[in-house]
Amino acid sequence: MRVHIIYTGGTIGMVDSPHGLVPGADLEGWLAVLLADTSLEHTVSVTSLEPLIDSSNATPSSWQAIVDDLRTHAAADPQTAFVVLHGTDTMAYTSAALSYALTDLTTPIVVTGSQLPLGFLGSDAAANVTGAVRAATSGRAGGVSLFFGHRLLAGNRATKSSSWAFTGFESPNTAPLAIVGAPWQWAATAPTGTGWKNTKPYTRHDVVVIDLAPGITAKRLGALLTPPPEAVVLRAFGVGNIPSREPGLTDVVEQVIAAGTAVIVTSQCHESEVLLGRYESGDALARSGAVGSRDMTLEAAYAKVQFLLSQGLRGVELAQWMGRSIAGELRE
Ligand code: ASP
Repeated sequence: MRVHIIYTGGTIGMVDSPHGLVPGADLEGWLAVLLADTSLEHTVSVTSLEPLIDSSNATPSSWQAIVDDLRTHAAADPQTAFVVLHGTDTMAYTSAALSYALTDLTTPIVVTGSQLPLGFLGSDAAANVTGAVRAATSGRAGGVSLFFGHRLLAGNRATKSSSWAFTGFESPNTAPLAIVGAPWQWAATAPTGTGWKNTKPYTRHDVVVIDLAPGITAKRLGALLTPPPEAVVLRAFGVGNIPSREPGLTDVVEQVIAAGTAVIVTSQCHESEVLLGRYESGDALARSGAVGSRDMTLEAAYAKVQFLLSQGLRGVELAQWMGRSIAGELRE
């Protein structure tokens, strides 16, 4: 089986500079040494995307550049499995974004990176890359997954949980797909969704993420939503509750919805399932036309909104798709 590796940037290939870590390591040379004398030695190809970025600089255009490269190589050889090397900061956004855009690909795509650059003593780079390649060629993985710190997670269920630990990522609302060991322990296969046909490319849409905190006023929320964005991901409390007794606050939500903004409610809880009608303080949101994100992570919800807007969906249609699984990103 052929493996194609797409290197997009991130700590894994960085070196020290007077202004902090920047891309600059010989990643392709390092990979050649890492895979020498393995069964994959002559079956791996590598593309480095231009420019290599710190993933903090990623945008929906960066997601699309990866999609384009994956599609080019998949068209050349439909049996190719893929590994995407990526910075950890926004890796979970990218892996979710890839999962929506590539539901028609039949071979696995595994995204990984590292907390320490490949040239640093004690780096996690080799373990993560070999683990990702192994997952991609296992015959067990499907769709988009994220390999990190000895675990394979569903790509649209993962979230960065640590800026330093080698575990790095969690999948708070669903079990890992596999845990590394001798042998690997595989869980049930990742859930799939309806898929998406005739996918249009990602374009950047005006979507804002707002965290609520005790004391927020209607005036402040209104200012944050002026002019109204195409969509807002409102990070509320618990199962999707807001300060509903705060004068004018739900009116602001109603006004932006009336102006055409999609309002998606997620939870600030690490483990969560948004249930808007459960409390009076969340019911007000549901009545105003906001839609809950169920058990999606913030990353999955945000990338999904960008995906749906890029497909041309708005209003009620967009809201309905937020509650349906396209690629296993939520439990229906
Ligand atoms: N800032 C880096 C990035 O996301 C962090 C990392 O790769 O671990 O590209």
